[in-house]
Amino acid sequence: MPFTFASYFLITKISNMKKHIFPFLAMMTLLLASCHTAKEAHHHAHWSYAGETDPAHWAELEKDAQCDGKHQSPINIIEKDVKPSNANNLVFHYSPQTKIKDAVNNGHSIQFNFDEGNFIYYNGKEYKLKQLHFHEGSEHTVNGIRYPIEMHLVHVSDDGQIAVVGVFGSEGTDSQLFEFFDKFLPIAVDEHKSIHQALDLKSFLPTNSAYYSYTGSLTTPPCSENVNWIVYKMPIVLSVDEVEQIRKELPIRNYRPTQPLNGRTVYEN
Ligand SMILES: [Zn+2]
Repeated sequence: MPFTFASYFLITKISNMKKHIFPFLAMMTLLLASCHTAKEAHHHAHWSYAGETDPAHWAELEKDAQCDGKHQSPINIIEKDVKPSNANNLVFHYSPQTKIKDAVNNGHSIQFNFDEGNFIYYNGKEYKLKQLHFHEGSEHTVNGIRYPIEMHLVHVSDDGQIAVVGVFGSEGTDSQLFEFFDKFLPIAVDEHKSIHQALDLKSFLPTNSAYYSYTGSLTTPPCSENVNWIVYKMPIVLSVDEVEQIRKELPIRNYRPTQPLNGRTVYEN
């Protein structure tokens, strides 16, 4: 591209400027368009959790993303630094009738997509539950401790704001929730599996509703910021076998390392 540009520019200068300005602009547009297309095609397959495309390289791989931002997720939650929140503004409106539409293995996680019907109110705004997915081990850590699993419930408001509820999973007895998920495994990379079954998700949330909250980002590219994070303190319990079932489906250690707080405050309710 630099050679073509330079030679064309030289010819243009020597020749009559007026006669050449339109083809010149047309060529530039084409060049820019083809660069853009190549980059787009590149975009989706490229980042990963290991090797040359691991989280340390996301910022350079994903040029239009915010992965090198200052308010990134996940974080290590240090309990002694957590401040009490003066708002208690989280209400779950999950219906037992809401169905899971399908499940997909997107190569980064296993994701279950929901039909409409579940939403939360958070700080006076409604966020609809779109999907849930898993990380093995957890992305957030508490006092440096990493749980075996973290489940993310991703909610989006009508104006495009995001609220993610993080639920840790610790190893113990069988979980009916994971029994439900395991029925649909294995799922090959890029495979979509239709489900259309109701799941009473609320009945499986931790029995103690205390949570941490802070403002961060998506933990995968494009790492978009201003995500409202709500992380349950109490884990849900699942068996070692159930952790293993999920683990077999995921890229090994599909968690992003914890990111610096950079002056942010973590609250608790
Ligand atoms: Zn996630």
